Amino acid sequence: MSEVWETHTPEETWRLGYELGEKAGAKEVYCLDGDLGVGKTVFAQGFAAGLGIQESVNSPTFTIVQEYDQGRLPFYHFDVYRIGDVEEMEEIGYEDYFFGEGVCLIEWPSLISEILPDTAVWVLIEKEMERGFDFRRICVKRP
Ligand code: ADP
Ligand code: MG
Repeated sequence: MSEVWETHTPEETWRLGYELGEKAGAKEVYCLDGDLGVGKTVFAQGFAAGLGIQESVNSPTFTIVQEYDQGRLPFYHFDVYRIGDVEEMEEIGYEDYFFGEGVCLIEWPSLISEILPDTAVWVLIEKEMERGFDFRRICVKRP
């Protein structure tokens, strides 16, 4: 099942993230795909807010995963942009996150494609310059 959304501002992308975060369930893994600067972190911030997290969420810079525990469910925000090898995921014990009680959201999922569960929800954000600088098409694909 897939749904396509169009946004014209960062706030609209944040809002879509918020709505998905509100509906997210335990044990779900969201793969957030798209080029640099497309709005993955904006979406992730909305998603976290939708889960009831009030802390500010930024892309984890020095760690692969950042954990937030004060929302409706534990939230694990991965940004694997700087990962060298998928073995680094083994080292942090990724299975406890992917198959735990919380919700995972992964930026740059294609870098770790071999370990992604096939039950993951894929969110692809794309620009389309002909539609304007701030236009984004967001495709949400559920297994
Ligand atoms: P990524 O995490 O994908 O690298 P960021 O979320 O950090 O990207 O940055 C996206 C940038 O694009 C922000 O500066 C944001 O203000 C801008 N932007 C412009 N239009 C949109 C839109 N429709 N949706 C999301 N971000 C947008
Ligand atoms: Mg980012």
